[in-house]
Amino acid sequence: MVSRAGGLGCELLKDLALIGFKDIHVIDMDTIELSNLNRQFLFRRKDLGKSKAEVAATFINSRIPGCNVTPHFSKIQDFDESFYRGFHLVLCGLDSIVARRWINGMLISLLSYDDGELDQSTIVPMIDGGTEGFKGNARVILPGMTSCIECTLDLFPPQVTFPLCTIANTPRLPEHCIEYVKVIQWTKENPWDVTIDGDDPAHINWIYEKSQERAAQFGISSVTYRLVQGVVKNIIPAVASTNAIIAAACATEAFKLATSCCMPLDNYMVFNDLDGIYTYTYEAERKEDCLACSQVPKNVYIKKLDMKLQDLIDYLCEDSAFQMKNPGLTVYTDGKNRTLYMSTVASIEEKTRFNLKKSLLELGLKDGSQVMVADSTTPNTVVLSLKFTPPSDVVMI
Ligand SMILES: [Zn+2]
Repeated sequence: MVSRAGGLGCELLKDLALIGFKDIHVIDMDTIELSNLNRQFLFRRKDLGKSKAEVAATFINSRIPGCNVTPHFSKIQDFDESFYRGFHLVLCGLDSIVARRWINGMLISLLSYDDGELDQSTIVPMIDGGTEGFKGNARVILPGMTSCIECTLDLFPPQVTFPLCTIANTPRLPEHCIEYVKVIQWTKENPWDVTIDGDDPAHINWIYEKSQERAAQFGISSVTYRLVQGVVKNIIPAVASTNAIIAAACATEAFKLATSCCMPLDNYMVFNDLDGIYTYTYEAERKEDCLACSQVPKNVYIKKLDMKLQDLIDYLCEDSAFQMKNPGLTVYTDGKNRTLYMSTVASIEEKTRFNLKKSLLELGLKDGSQVMVADSTTPNTVVLSLKFTPPSDVVMI
């Protein structure tokens, strides 16, 4: 199964089909846009607006005899365990960390354990490729056996933002100048009295011209229109050759796993061709208390006894080990489940909002309480064990 038919996905489908895989499914919820056509080579101008998954499948099926690609014009989250259980391998060409984490959680939920012993027949390997400009990585995840996406979550730091003092006082990069115009000058001068629309050429042009002026003041060159677009829309340009290389590495791993012809990658390869070519492979380690694959409740040490529920939620969103998006919290006390807070359902949000200001003690939580957390980054419930009496060598919140 290939998730997404974008830059990496087109390469993956082509590689897998040419290697000889005959039965491939592809999931993608996107439709084809003009800006895709320079690298997503299974699509043509006549396909604009159509489903990526469907067009990609039709292209491969007509071009490579004997290969049958089944398209799913859907989100990965639209399918449940029984769907994912039906695959031998899952290859990901995703552009989002949340989606990666979700698939990772899904494949881990397929594992079954007998007396703590992993039943290896329940493993669906995940081969994950990622690219960012001239950098890329490929990794093989054997859920329950090797490190998973959550084990190495700190490899994906939250999106880089430039410190305001740098962009205001000591810009060194063209990005700093663009960010200055975007954040400070636009707000001050507000040329159209609206917020910035990254798809409006007039807006981009205005920012482009002002950024050039500012760059000139500081002796900085190479502010380009494309870079302005990239910074304003927070996108890093996709490089077709990086996609091709990473997809080839992933497809090779799929071939190795499917045929057992040789040992798979163990387990993480990084690639960089910004300046020459560099690759490095290492064994990313499992995290003993991994949120997703360790099967032990994650301890959260609480130092301040008056800690509010809102503080706990902020911690789950900001801490590098959790990086959650919209955690919903429930607790099991006195034989029943009680929702502490949930933002995703409006009526429950309204009913539980007042809990945010309450302290954990006021909410009846104590040392050893187990809090169940649901979040869009995982299909599973994460169990947190609250510890009010921390050992001395741990970081507390
Ligand atoms: Zn893990």
